[in-house]
Amino acid sequence: ATFEDFNFNRQTLNAIADAGYTEPTPIQQKAMPPILNGQDVMGIAQTGTGKTAAYVLPIIMRLKYAQGEHARALILSPTRELAMQIEENIRTYSKYTDLRVVTVYGGLGPKTQIENINKGVDIIVATPGRYMDIYLAGHIVTKTLQVLVLDEADKMMDMGFMPQINRILEVVPRKRQNLLFSATMSEKIHQLSANFLEFPTVIEV
Ligand code: AMP
Repeated sequence: ATFEDFNFNRQTLNAIADAGYTEPTPIQQKAMPPILNGQDVMGIAQTGTGKTAAYVLPIIMRLKYAQGEHARALILSPTRELAMQIEENIRTYSKYTDLRVVTVYGGLGPKTQIENINKGVDIIVATPGRYMDIYLAGHIVTKTLQVLVLDEADKMMDMGFMPQINRILEVVPRKRQNLLFSATMSEKIHQLSANFLEFPTVIEV
């Protein structure tokens, strides 16, 4: 398979070529078609498999270009380090578009993060606690969200983020695409997916 098989637009194909990727990884080959179709997906994949691009590329294709003020995609990450890596990935793959990404996480003041959100944003990458704090302070509008991603969901559960994730699920639109990635499959992840995903395609690599 090649990236040309997925009907990516020219901007995205050029960014992929610049990154030096010649073919999609197994998780990308399996997960991108249902994600591009708008389906909910549960991907069981470790870091290093190319899982980030597997959901970031279809999100970039779906959003295409900057639009409106408020985020249309929200990606939740357990840690600041992963959030920053996801942001890097988004910048790499969207370099030929005008899509705006803002990353928010704890450990430093929220002022700059809030200012960046207020400038207008298409994709927010966030740790759950900081996202909820900024939401409760009135600086995040959720009604425009179309895609919600839980990355490293097993780690988010282990770190005790379920209460914040459940709060976030209460304030996002009911009709949306949900993507869940986890390194491991467990009873807890199964339960989360039952609450979070609708008729998901399950992919394991
Ligand atoms: P991830 O599993 O998302 O953390 O990705 C692991 C590494 O694989 C990252 O450094 C990516 O830049 C790289 N990568 C992602 N997709 C591909 C691909 N199709 N071909 C080669 N490298 C890739």
